[in-house]
Amino acid sequence: MGKVVAMAFLEVKDVEAYYEKAQALRGISFSVEKGECIGIIGPNGAGKSTLLDSIIGLTDWRGQIIFDGTDLHQLTPVQIIGVKKIGYAPERGNLFRFMNVMENLLVGGFTVRNAMDKNLETVFELFSLLEQRQKQEAGTLSGGERQMLSLARAFMSSPKLILLDEPTLGLAPIVISHISAAVENLKKLGITIVIAEQNALFTLTHSERIYLLERGRFTMSGTPQELGEEEYIKTTYFGL
Ligand code: ATP
Repeated sequence: MGKVVAMAFLEVKDVEAYYEKAQALRGISFSVEKGECIGIIGPNGAGKSTLLDSIIGLTDWRGQIIFDGTDLHQLTPVQIIGVKKIGYAPERGNLFRFMNVMENLLVGGFTVRNAMDKNLETVFELFSLLEQRQKQEAGTLSGGERQMLSLARAFMSSPKLILLDEPTLGLAPIVISHISAAVENLKKLGITIVIAEQNALFTLTHSERIYLLERGRFTMSGTPQELGEEEYIKTTYFGL
C-alpha cells in the first residue's frame, strides 16, 4: 500500500509567476491548515498581489497549488471562486464603482444564489454600516467603507478560504480597527485566511504564521513572536 501523505488545506509548491519574461515569483512554497490565518508581509513590488492573483488563477504561473484536494491549475478563476470556494478581496477593493453597495454584494454571491439571503444577513451583522449604505454607489464610499465592502463581497461567495490583499492600505488607525474586528469575526466563523500586507503590525496581530516576501522570494518565516523579535523586521517593518 502506498503511503498516505496528509495534505494541508492549501498547499503551494515551487510556484513561479511571470509577466511576459519578467519573473515576479520564485520558488514560493507554503501551506495553510484549515482555520489558520497566514500573513505574507513584504514591501511594494515584492510580489504579494501576484501570489494571491496566482492562487485565484489570474497569472501565468508554474508549480503546484492544491486547495482542498484539487490542483488549481486545471480550473478557471470562476471555478476557483464558485466551486472551490476561495473568496478574493483584491487590493483597493476593485469594486464595481457605478453599482451600489447591494449590487456589489449580489455580484459577489452570484455563484451561490441559494445562500444569498443567509450570507447577506451575516454580512449586515458583520458590517452594519453596509446595511445603512445599501443604495450608495460604491465609487462614492470612503476608503475604509470600500475595504469593508470588498471583504463583504468576498464573503458573499460562501468561501472556505479568503485572500485579503492589503486590507489596511491608506486607512486611518481608527478605520483599521474596524477591519481588524471584521477579520477576527471571519476567523470566528471558521474561515481560513491569507493576508498579504505591508502593514506588519496588522498582519502579525491576526496571523498564526508569517512569511516575509522580498523580490519574489520568501526570505524569512515564523510565528508573529519569532518575526517580531528579528532585528531586520524591527528596523525595516516597524521603524525601530
Ligand atoms: P504592491 O503592494 O506595491 O502592490 P506587491 O508586493 O503586491 O506590491 P506585485 O504587485 O505582485 O507586488 O508586483 C510584483 C512585481 O511584478 C513587480 O515588479 C511589478 O512591477 C510586477 N508586475 C505586477 N503586475 C504586473 C503586470 N500586470 N505586468 C507586468 N509586471 C507586473
